[in-house]
Amino acid sequence: RTEHHFLSLLTGSLASPADENPTVAMIEAAYRALGLDARYINCDVPAAMLGDAVRGARAMGWAGFNCSIPHKLAVIAHLDALAPSAALIGAVNCVVLRDGRLVGENTDGQGFLDSLRTVAEPSGSRVTLFGAGGAARAIAVELALAGAGHITIVNRRAAPARELAELIAQRTGTQASAVPWSPHHRVDRQTDIVVNATSVGLFPNVSAMPDLDTDSLHPGMVVADVIPNPPRTGLIQAATQRGCVTLDGLGMLVNQGLISIALWTGCTADAAVMRATLEGLFSP
Ligand code: NDP
Repeated sequence: RTEHHFLSLLTGSLASPADENPTVAMIEAAYRALGLDARYINCDVPAAMLGDAVRGARAMGWAGFNCSIPHKLAVIAHLDALAPSAALIGAVNCVVLRDGRLVGENTDGQGFLDSLRTVAEPSGSRVTLFGAGGAARAIAVELALAGAGHITIVNRRAAPARELAELIAQRTGTQASAVPWSPHHRVDRQTDIVVNATSVGLFPNVSAMPDLDTDSLHPGMVVADVIPNPPRTGLIQAATQRGCVTLDGLGMLVNQGLISIALWTGCTADAAVMRATLEGLFSP
């Protein structure tokens, strides 16, 4: 008689809305390629039901889950511990069950860093970061923990930029400043790495571009965009034309998924399989 097993390792996502989130396709493609008996269940969980959903995931023995809008801050109250970078960022996008305890991680910034390290070393670098929301906070904290020299934060609203600059300057060894977003903003000539961490350029507003003077981008600068859909944003196209080294938001999305899979299963997934899945979904 052949022995059968019918209990899959369970992971998933808690968010609302959830219907447009392609992560389930990317992660399940990775599980199949690994030959893992594991599932990723995409759940639409309203804000008021988050506590019940987390208790449910714990009761059902889920290995972990992602959280997205609107749960990245609220989930912390339902966890047993936070990883150091998630504590600094103040937001959790990945929860891992470790020895019966739910631990909050933040893999957004780590995913960005893994992409960045394929082209540049963050240590000692000078960074201009557009945006001060969740993605920007995660990226700024991970860049600082990786030893970035200076981060200039440029945001439409002044207060979040100031708060993020203060967090980086006070809690890490990296210098940080907030500067106002002037029209056709010129990127400082000393900048090594430019990051768009705003939502400008995201589908369906694909022709929108962060308001910066593309003549201030120079060959040798690394220009990264967090926008995963479409991957070739207006900024990435302009930076390519200017001779910059570019990184698209798909790389960050794939890498944060890779890190989540490693945290939940201990396995290293195939980035190419995951990227191809997303490209297939996002291609016009
Ligand atoms: P938040 O809502 O937390 O932050 C949005 C940011 O965009 C704020 O800094 C906001 O500025 C800025 N912004 C929005 N509209 C404009 C505008 N018209 N002009 C200038 N600035 C603007 O969102 P997140 O940080 O969570 O997400 C930001 C983007 O990052 C999203 O598009 C998301 O898809 C992407 N992302 C990608 C990931 C990946 O793996 N590739 C992972 C996580 C996010 P203000 O404070 O002035 O409102």
